[in-house]
Amino acid sequence: MTETTTKPAFGVTERGYYGDFGGAYIPEMLYPNVEELRQNYLKIMAEPDFQIEFQALLRDFVGRPTPLFFAKRLSEKYGCKIYLKREDLCHTGAHKVNNTVGQILIAKRLKKQRIVAETGAGQHGVATATVCALMGMECIIYMGELDIERQAPNVARMQMLGAEVRPAKSGSKTLKDATNEAMRHWINNPVDTHYIIGSVVGPHPYPDMVARFQAVISEEIKKQLVEKEGRPNPDYVLACVGGGSNAAGAFYHFLDEPSVRLIAVEAAGRGIDSGHSAATTALGKPGILHGSRTILMQTNDGQVVEPYSISAGLDYPGIGPIHAHLFKSGRAEFYAATDQEALEASLELSRTEGIIPALETAHALAYLKNLNAKPHEIVVINLSGRGDKDLNTYMKHL
Ligand SMILES: *Cc1c(COP(=O)(O)O)cnc(C)c1O
Repeated sequence: MTETTTKPAFGVTERGYYGDFGGAYIPEMLYPNVEELRQNYLKIMAEPDFQIEFQALLRDFVGRPTPLFFAKRLSEKYGCKIYLKREDLCHTGAHKVNNTVGQILIAKRLKKQRIVAETGAGQHGVATATVCALMGMECIIYMGELDIERQAPNVARMQMLGAEVRPAKSGSKTLKDATNEAMRHWINNPVDTHYIIGSVVGPHPYPDMVARFQAVISEEIKKQLVEKEGRPNPDYVLACVGGGSNAAGAFYHFLDEPSVRLIAVEAAGRGIDSGHSAATTALGKPGILHGSRTILMQTNDGQVVEPYSISAGLDYPGIGPIHAHLFKSGRAEFYAATDQEALEASLELSRTEGIIPALETAHALAYLKNLNAKPHEIVVINLSGRGDKDLNTYMKHL
């Protein structure tokens, strides 16, 4: 059993709760599917042959361990020791594939023949189509009709990889409609289909399962910091939060280390109070979203508020239940960066370190100017993805 399968104090209860948040608020018809997963995921993940196959794929397919890079010029600028955890160097360009590799191995062991997933901007769809091609499994990706138009390159990638992209034509024709269609598909095909969720959201056991797959990020950071600094713990870990999977992975093995300050950065969009924002902890209240009790942006009568961010990956009206708990308990600090701050931070990283970050990641980078870390302090920023997919947006705004 590796560290990834042991349970931290901030871990989940058997019924899927993190403090007041989590659980599985699902329609009756989905219960058998979710229950099958709940009863089996920990058992499967603990099996030696699962771990051998998972670790081999992380190494040889994903390209792990990803480097922990000392950002010398950025460190000089901000007067502390800044390290970048290079998830941007993962196969497919972001951390998302850590989770899809793990889930496809679970699906295989549950004898599923087909994978279904939803995608907004297409990043999770590409990561899912990638592992389906690798394993020779049928792959159906639901995507809002409007998103299909807006994200043509990722649609082409999914199709190149052999996935079928099905348009969701109802409602606003975006992510939430795609989610509904994918759920419907799963309800109608419970025996042979596994649904791959792309972040630490959804009904239990998804948030916990995804966090455990992404926990490899902090497991590696600890080892790499021992090599580079002689101690496993940094003083700060910074990560951006959409649903919260890259942050959960980067925080996971530091949750029980109170000396490590955990900093989560959400998307403020055009400003927290502008009416065009995705700063969930600043604007949201407790409620049920996508099968779990969490904090979400909602109107007084409980309607979900349409989120906005320049980055598609942070454009989500909630956060995973683990983050709602980390926020409420005060274990992690939550801040928000605007579109403009993120654009400036991505240009800064590009020009200072020769790394073009994803727009999502740039939100975490934007918090550096407010951090005021001391010269001997170690700051690790989770560089969740690379910026190639965002070049059009960068060209438009910079
Ligand atoms: C999808 C994505 C995110 C946001 O998702 P989380 O689950 O919050 O990690 C962040 N960064 C990149 C590069 C992404 O592709």
